[in-house]
Amino acid sequence: MSCPICGKNTEPSYRPFCSRRCADVDLARWLNGSYAVPSQDPEDAERAEQEARRAASKPH
Ligand SMILES: [Zn+2]
Repeated sequence: MSCPICGKNTEPSYRPFCSRRCADVDLARWLNGSYAVPSQDPEDAERAEQEARRAASKPH
């Protein structure tokens, strides 16, 4: 089995990676993927909250 990041032989202590560095690279890729979801953007959430308050204060 080889490291999925760089293809070197896997180190048992860092399986399935060859080193701490490659494990960190994989973790960073995974986190970047989840942070790409638009609803996770703090500015979008703030804007949505302001619009919700404005809509709630208007009499219908
Ligand atoms: Zn590696």
